Parts: sequence; structure tokens; C-alpha cells
Amino acid sequence: MTDPSNRRRRGLMLLISSPSGAGKTSLSRRLVADHAELDLSISATTRAPRPGEENGREYHFLDRAGFDAMIEAGEFLEWAHVHEHRYGTPRAPVMAALEAGHDVLFDIDWQGAAAISREAPGDVVRVFILPPSMAELSRRLHARAQDHEDVIQRRLGRAYDEIPHWRSYDYVIVNEDYDRAYADLAHIYHAERLRQARNPWVNGFVEGLLDEKLEPPR
Ligand code: 5GP
Repeated sequence: MTDPSNRRRRGLMLLISSPSGAGKTSLSRRLVADHAELDLSISATTRAPRPGEENGREYHFLDRAGFDAMIEAGEFLEWAHVHEHRYGTPRAPVMAALEAGHDVLFDIDWQGAAAISREAPGDVVRVFILPPSMAELSRRLHARAQDHEDVIQRRLGRAYDEIPHWRSYDYVIVNEDYDRAYADLAHIYHAERLRQARNPWVNGFVEGLLDEKLEPPR
């Protein structure tokens, strides 16, 4: 029998995108909270913190100069302009997590998902979250009451540009019922972890199975 602690998987990168307000952030955070082996990639951004957001928890909040210094130093796995600000994925924590045998979840826009997919096509799983309707998306953005009306309008406008990218994702979830959407997301993650290519330890395990000679029944 192989020691279960040697059943080391190849970590996957779970890329989740959606228009702002479709529920991606709370679905992502819940999935990370429920799975000790799944780390959240904390992005850097030049946008200001919203009420309740903390530096290093939701984002690393940087000024333009700090962000540009990270670009110069090649410290981003990807970065993009989103909603008039810059957002980027710091490379080092992602690499460290994958090397430690963890999976990493990214809450990023379609540009970031495309960039990471180009770098590591075999290791990504892409999930797109859709709102049940644009009216509901607007209602949720207003209910969140974290942004000014002009910011909300810009985010709604951008949703019409973001949604057409759904086709380049492996999975699509319509977030009508939050618990249902969460169950779907968790199922996707669980199934993807079992993919043969991510579980090279099975080779040795199967050899062990086949070496196990059973006594003929008496
Ligand atoms: P928000 O300002 O609402 O937190 O995020 C705005 C958008 O930026 C969201 O669609 C979010 O997924 C995206 N985003 C957050 N971090 C990153 C990142 O590191 N890279 C890219 N490309 N997009 C990001």
C-alpha cells in the first residue's frame, strides 16, 4: 500500500471571473475557507480600499509607483487595467503554494484568466459566474452600498464587456441561488482535483495494487 501522505497531487489554478456583483468574491472566499489545501491569490491593486477592506486581506493596496515597481521587477504573473485601475497577481506566493502541493484560487478578470491560461494551460480550471439577469446584477451592486453611483454605473457598463468572454471558460455557473451556485463550484473543484493528470502518484499506487497477490480461496 502506498502511504497516503505520498499521494501528492499536481496543484491546480482555479480561475474565477464574472462581472462585478455576480457573487464571485463571496463564492471564492467560501470555497477557500472550506478547503485547507486551497489558497487564495491576493492581488495587488491601485484602487482605493472599500469600507471594511483591509490591506493584505482583500488586496495589497498600492500606489501607482509601487505597482509600477512590481511590474518593472517582473513580480507579477499577470496584470491588467480594470475599471480605470491596475490589478495584478503577485507571482511568488502562487509559486510557493503550488510547490507546497496546494491549489490556488484567483478572483481575476478575463484578461488575467487568459494570461495565466497561456502560461500554464494544463494547470488551469476556468469558471465563469453569471448573474441571473442584468437587473439583478444592478440590484446587488446597489445593495452592496460600497460604491458611489457613478462607480456602480461604470461597473454595470463593464459587465456588458466582461460577459461575452464566458466562452473561453471551462465551466459556467448562473448565480441565481447562492447555495446552489456554491455547491456547483465545490463540485467542479472536487472533480478537477481527481483528474488523472493531476495525480501522478496513482502510477505507483496501481503498481502496488497489481503486485498484491491474493491467496486463492480455500
Ligand atoms: P474589484 O475592484 O471589484 O475588487 O475588482 C474589479 C475586477 O478586477 C474584478 O473583476 C476582479 O476579478 C478583477 N481583478 C482582481 N484582481 C485581479 C488581478 O490580479 N488581475 C486581474 N487581471 N484582474 C483582477
